[in-house]
Amino acid sequence: MKVLKSLSILFLGTLVVACSTNPFTGKQTLALVPNSQILPMAFQQYQEFLTEHKVVTNTANARMVKNVGQKIAAAAERYLNANGYAGYLSDYRWEYNLIDSPEVNAWCMPGGKIVVYTGILPITKDEAGLAAVMGHEVAHALANHGQQRMSAGQLQQLGAVAGNIALANNPENAQIFNTAYGLGSNLGVMLPFSRSHETEADHIGLILMAIAGYEPSVAAELWQRMQAQEQGTPPEFLSTHPSSSTRIQNIQAWVPEAKAEARKFGVTSFKR
Ligand SMILES: [Zn+2]
Repeated sequence: MKVLKSLSILFLGTLVVACSTNPFTGKQTLALVPNSQILPMAFQQYQEFLTEHKVVTNTANARMVKNVGQKIAAAAERYLNANGYAGYLSDYRWEYNLIDSPEVNAWCMPGGKIVVYTGILPITKDEAGLAAVMGHEVAHALANHGQQRMSAGQLQQLGAVAGNIALANNPENAQIFNTAYGLGSNLGVMLPFSRSHETEADHIGLILMAIAGYEPSVAAELWQRMQAQEQGTPPEFLSTHPSSSTRIQNIQAWVPEAKAEARKFGVTSFKR
């Protein structure tokens, strides 16, 4: 019993000091549950999600999701390799699936497991619009925002079960995980992270879509369409969502920077 107690104290101590650097901002962020534990859990939850939902295959849209996803993933790898973070994505197992659902939603779990819902396609409208959404969601995953969305208690609970992957048999933990990574929104719209994380994901996502060869100013147009669609969504969603006009202004101001980053990789034309 005593041994168990000191082991758990040791474990909590490890939780508190674990830190990782956000490769895009250089900021230290807490990584309370390490990738070695979070990724197997993410992969398991992703597989489960796919078996419980209708995956669209062999349509033009399904192919577009895979194609754009591959380009965004390649952009992330090029950017990280060039900025001293080679190997940052070595444990990623990229996957891109389109799900048949009216929800206006998309998310990326840590490890590069992406889902786009058919309900968001009328708003993304075209390939460049989809690249804006996927760039944004991948940015959340790269910057490790999901974990930072969890409370300390939730992290401890997850960290405690992660080692033996009891997650699938524990609905409460699955709930924590899914909420943190944007699954299972009951509002029928994309679940926002905190304002600062949303802004960070917009910035990183813009750079990724530009390196992938897409016109970054399309992201501003996308969020304008999103704003129009959000009329009529519940106030609880709007109260936590970053103001769309600020977001659009930010994105427009970052477009030259995103293009300058892309040019470093020889990308000089941007598809819209
Ligand atoms: Zn977001």
